[in-house]
Order: sequence, then C-alpha cells, then structure tokens
Amino acid sequence: MVTQEGCYDPREWPVEQLPIRNIHTLQVFINAWANKTFPDRIPEAALTKLVMEEVPELLTHRKEKGTAAIGGEMADCFILLLDLCEIWGIDIAQAIHDKMEINRKRSWDLDTATGFYHHTCEGTAPIESEGGTHD
Ligand SMILES: [Mg+2]
Repeated sequence: MVTQEGCYDPREWPVEQLPIRNIHTLQVFINAWANKTFPDRIPEAALTKLVMEEVPELLTHRKEKGTAAIGGEMADCFILLLDLCEIWGIDIAQAIHDKMEINRKRSWDLDTATGFYHHTCEGTAPIESEGGTHD
C-alpha cells in the first residue's frame, strides 16, 4: 500500500479504506478497476457512451424518479469521466482548479430561452470594453 517514496498507492487499497473524497485518488482507483474489468475499452467509445447513454439516463431518472434517486446515474457519469481523465493523463483536480480560475473571472448571462448561462467576456474587464460577446 505504501510506495518506495512513502506515498500511498490507491490502486492497492482495499475499497473500504479508500479516502474516496479525494477526487484524484478516486480517478486512479476507478481507472485501475476499469483496466481489469474493461481491458479492451476504447476511450472515444466511452466518451460517446457518456454523452449518448449515461447523461440521457441521468436526465430521465431525474424527471421520472426525482433528484433523490439519481445518485447512481450521477456516479455512472463521473466514473466514465474519471476513467477517461486517467487514460488521457488529466489530473481532474488540477484541471478543475485551473478552469475555476478562468470561470471566476468571467461574466455570465442567462439565456432565458434555454435556461443556460454563457460567459460573455474573459478576465475582469467589463463587457462594454470587450466590444461584444464571444462564447
Ligand atoms: Mg447509468
């Protein structure tokens, strides 16, 4: 369980001992499980499955069964994403941190027709000084 450098290797931990609130540890653990369970998986197919099957399942479950019943479907989405992060060498904790640095500096507008928010400018400059919008 402990590497030569004195670090814990989450791939070797019994599941009941995993500090599952650490998202990078979870990413490594899920990838190790997927490597054993789905050794021939194709990353692009997994991404397509996420978009075409798991996200629609999440939307359907929430609509039909309510928010309290969607934990498993949310987990399906995250499991696929975290496995892909590990396959493609993305430390999701760092990627989220970096993206939130950008998002916090953006301005956002609500499209009332869709209910979606879109960013309207980068950085801290007001929208007027940007000369328009760009999404
Ligand atoms: Mg599902």
